Amino acid sequence: MSAVAEVLSTVTLKGDPRCSELPTCPVCADSMVAAEASAYISDHVISYLWTCDTCGYGFVTKHAVKQRLVCN
Ligand SMILES: [Zn+2]
Repeated sequence: MSAVAEVLSTVTLKGDPRCSELPTCPVCADSMVAAEASAYISDHVISYLWTCDTCGYGFVTKHAVKQRLVCN
């Protein structure tokens, strides 16, 4: 049984979540620190896999990418 759920349109990020607003766990509302993994779904959509350190819940967010990730 997978604990991973897709979360769409719940988090709006402008680029790299590591230097932007971070999502929170939908179960315990703990703040996510860093994505476990990321993958480009298409040229304009990137997905991030998050795992909550507190409750272990995993979820995926998808984000529209309008530019290459820049984190300055
Ligand atoms: Zn949690």
